[in-house]
Amino acid sequence: MSTAVRATAFTEPDRPKNLQIRFLTTGGSYVDVTGHGEHAENNRWNCLGCGESSNLPEQDLLFRIRPKANTHATACRAIPLN
Ligand SMILES: [Zn+2]
Repeated sequence: MSTAVRATAFTEPDRPKNLQIRFLTTGGSYVDVTGHGEHAENNRWNCLGCGESSNLPEQDLLFRIRPKANTHATACRAIPLN
């Protein structure tokens, strides 16, 4: 049995205006990184599958937020409910 993510199984939600990165999760949902980009300290991530989001700190520079968001996307198995 394949464990590959089937990206076409769910409809991609609308993209927020300040979306910097959208990671596809293992469960087929998405982790959005939003904020003002590379040199801003107000970037954050939130998972559209399980609802978890960045904390400690909630907002940070993009190079610090990016790997945390990607790690969560790899681990999260929650499927989109809408
Ligand atoms: Zn999640």
